Amino acid sequence: KDIIEAPILIIGSGYGGAVSALRLCEAGKKVLMLEMGLNWGESGIPFSNMLKPGKSAAWLKNKTIAPFMNIFSLEPFTGTLDRMDFDNINIWVGRGVGGGSLVNGGMAVTPKESYFKEVFPDLDPEKFYNHYFPLVHKELKVNVIGEQFLKDCPYYKFTRVGEAEAHKAGFKTVRVPNVYDFQYMEKEYRNEVPRSAFNTEVIYGNNHGKNSLDKTYLKKALETGNLEILDLHCVENIKLNDDKTYTLEVQQTDTSGTVISDKVFNCKKLILAAGTMGTLKLLLHSNAVNGFPIHEQIGKNWGNNGNFMTGRNWVKPLSGGTGAKQSTIPVGGIDNWDDKEHPFFTEIAPLPMGMDVATALYLLINRVDKKGEVSYDSTKKNLSLDWNQNHTTKMRENADYFIKKMNRANGGTRSHFLFNNGFGADVCYHPLGGCVLGKATNEYGKLKDHENLYVLDGSLIPGTIGVNPFVTITAISEYCMENLITQNEFA
Ligand code: FAD
Repeated sequence: KDIIEAPILIIGSGYGGAVSALRLCEAGKKVLMLEMGLNWGESGIPFSNMLKPGKSAAWLKNKTIAPFMNIFSLEPFTGTLDRMDFDNINIWVGRGVGGGSLVNGGMAVTPKESYFKEVFPDLDPEKFYNHYFPLVHKELKVNVIGEQFLKDCPYYKFTRVGEAEAHKAGFKTVRVPNVYDFQYMEKEYRNEVPRSAFNTEVIYGNNHGKNSLDKTYLKKALETGNLEILDLHCVENIKLNDDKTYTLEVQQTDTSGTVISDKVFNCKKLILAAGTMGTLKLLLHSNAVNGFPIHEQIGKNWGNNGNFMTGRNWVKPLSGGTGAKQSTIPVGGIDNWDDKEHPFFTEIAPLPMGMDVATALYLLINRVDKKGEVSYDSTKKNLSLDWNQNHTTKMRENADYFIKKMNRANGGTRSHFLFNNGFGADVCYHPLGGCVLGKATNEYGKLKDHENLYVLDGSLIPGTIGVNPFVTITAISEYCMENLITQNEFA
């Protein structure tokens, strides 16, 4: 096999990978990025919407896997949405050039400063709140919906009803910024441009409107001429060589998942940005198959960011339903974080099923009092996760408190339509931790016990951040890259 040499190699093209690529390319470094998913922009294949799932709907599955929408048959294709199933939790992730930014709801939430300080006691909050978070907002093109548009638009009835009901129950609501371009959305409402948010597009990709990473960080990095991205290249394992360089075994596939080429890459500097689960899998699997050295902290301090889904049926008495037409882009949240007994934040989530199902959906984000741990199961040749009901007891109590209070004030029932027992403790969109900053790595993401290996993705955050995580992942990556470059790590 030919060996392909690359001085700096990044695995994964999500938030951490995209920030690393841009800052290295701007510093004049040549960077090679390997991404197991498809480059959708280059492929010319459109994303499918939720009501007509097609090629982009799932990663090599013969049925759709989105929550509540897993009834459609599919031809296996390297789609954008993947799900990893563990005993007590299912974890959804994005695949493709842009990683999770392709599938996510675009909610761009800055963590509460008090909680950020608690989670990252060693970081300087002033630097983050005055510099890195504003920088990330600008680069990611974060914006806020116009209040008048929100008030008038029929596609946001679910948000208006959700907020009115929350107020009636005594909860505080907040406006949630997003990377979806709300100017574009206003035009799509007026039928001046093709529809995306108003055409049930999200979670399998958006054809318009959403500023995913391929339109922001990665686009800028490519424009420097220093970045090369190889899509449909999956890294299988990593070896450490005697001269402290790394050798990667990589499978190139076609869009049906068939391996078309086995390749070997050598690099001097390696950045793992494969997402929390992807990075942990690479480290733990490589350790199991070839003795790749890993620090004892790898896999520890994992959490689901307190994700707990719940919902209410028959949201009718006050409002007459949540609306048949729904935008896919959430813009409202309920902030109960400062309640000592029941601290949580929840998104008022859309449920664009094409008809009025009079159901309200909420993705709660709770504190993670008890962390989980990720390890490697050599018999199954896969990750195993120490995560069970004990880890989610308090989250469940919060969800129960929230739903009861909402129902008492507004009518409605716990959603048995969406979940078996009214609760989705097993739904996780925000896996975090396992390579925690300052524990498994040095203060800037360089892995302990290694000289040329870095981690830049959600695994740096110790299992919880109190809000949707990509703004924090991006800001932490900016902070690490700035310092790593200043320290001449990539000279
Ligand atoms: P990722 O974005 O996961 O990127 C990792 C990339 O690495 C992927 O493209 C993957 O294909 C690639 N990769 C993995 N393994 C390999 C390998 N072995 N070889 C090559 N490539 C590999 N967060 C928010 O803040 N707001 C939201 O509104 C929001 N909504 C969400 C909705 C859904 C349905 C989901 C699933 C997530 C949502 N999230 C949201 C979470 C957010 O998208 C993730 O936290 C974020 O994408 C994680 O960034 P990352 O840099 O850690 O890695």
